[in-house]
Amino acid sequence: MTAGQAAVPGAQDHGRPLLNRRLAGFGTTIFAEMSALAVRTGAINLGQGFPDTDGPEEIREAAVRALRDGRGNQYPPGPGIPELRGAVAEHQQRFYGLGYDPETEVLITAGATEAIAASLLALVEPGDEVIALEPYYDSYAASIAMAGGTRVPVTLRPRDGAYHLDLDELRDAVTDRTRLLLLNTPHNPTGTVLSRAELAAVAELCVERDLLAVTDEVYEHLVFDGEHHPLAGFPGMRERTVTISSSGKTFSLTGWKVGWVTGTPALVSAVRSAKQYLTYVSAGPFQYAIAEALALPDDYYTALREGLRARRDLLAAGLREAGFEVFRAAGTYFITTDIRPLGADDGVAFCLSLPERVGVVAVPTQVFYDHAEAGAPYVRFAFCKREEVLADAARRLRGVAGTV
Ligand SMILES: *Cc1c(COP(=O)(O)O)cnc(C)c1O
Repeated sequence: MTAGQAAVPGAQDHGRPLLNRRLAGFGTTIFAEMSALAVRTGAINLGQGFPDTDGPEEIREAAVRALRDGRGNQYPPGPGIPELRGAVAEHQQRFYGLGYDPETEVLITAGATEAIAASLLALVEPGDEVIALEPYYDSYAASIAMAGGTRVPVTLRPRDGAYHLDLDELRDAVTDRTRLLLLNTPHNPTGTVLSRAELAAVAELCVERDLLAVTDEVYEHLVFDGEHHPLAGFPGMRERTVTISSSGKTFSLTGWKVGWVTGTPALVSAVRSAKQYLTYVSAGPFQYAIAEALALPDDYYTALREGLRARRDLLAAGLREAGFEVFRAAGTYFITTDIRPLGADDGVAFCLSLPERVGVVAVPTQVFYDHAEAGAPYVRFAFCKREEVLADAARRLRGVAGTV
């Protein structure tokens, strides 16, 4: 061993693992592994949820203008530029009739991911329980762990062709140690959109048990069946809800990482306390462009939704024809399937060999569960891709039955 190597800490340096206990088990995400597999095999990647076409030209041009004009090239204000905070407040008013003061009730973040992490770091004490719907978005588990909280999953279960929340199970999950409910609707990975009645029941529970709510609404504009209702709009919820969204999915600009938080001054100021020591600020010039994006006319939002609805239908038909059981995706970028009709029951093994067998990458939803057995036979496919790519994937998947 050279002197240089000796200076690099090893994985077992000082007799303990390099990665701390809170993050043990969070080494690499499934997306990295599956995307590497896609590259190695040349398969079509329907694993990770990012669009394969970029968002509106005029919004990208707005970012270029901001860069050229010297707007946002230096640290923007800690809470975000006033133009974007104003645009977020207007968006909440325009789509949901929710009034927020851009000065004190809006915070701009490095995507929804930072907003989620900062909210949990701000609001959770070690030992507090955090309820999250399972299967859950992968950053939730890590963010809860970093905050020292205890994750309490409530499992969404498939019934009659779609996933459902069992409100009794949710009620039973609340204990005296429950601090908050981390709610995601429209829900990734299942495509579930909670109804007004379900959300009203969730709100009543939060009020009755005096819980905070943190809501992840990044797919708010991608609802194909039903309607999106922010939890903050239900009685008693405005004062106890941190509402999170992001420009990534709404404007097909997932690389820009411009997200936001709305809530009462007390909640927003708590989240900001954590956020300022994570990134402080980010994405200066992009903030100007997203302020313009949020003000796009209704046509933009309608076209986005209808375009994705058509692609959902295209992929769902292909998967059904290939022999999968396809669950109804009322919203998001994703369709979840059951592989048991194909004679398989282990989603992980299925996804690891799928690229070699038919040239398509998908994600086993088992990795989004604490109760791995509850998620074993389910596989998620992303449909936020060009129609010709989805048609090609559907054609390839038609051969899957013979390979299981
Ligand atoms: C994509 C996604 C995010 C991350 O949003 P960013 O703005 O890219 O950080 C958060 N939550 C869910 C459910 C997502 O699918």
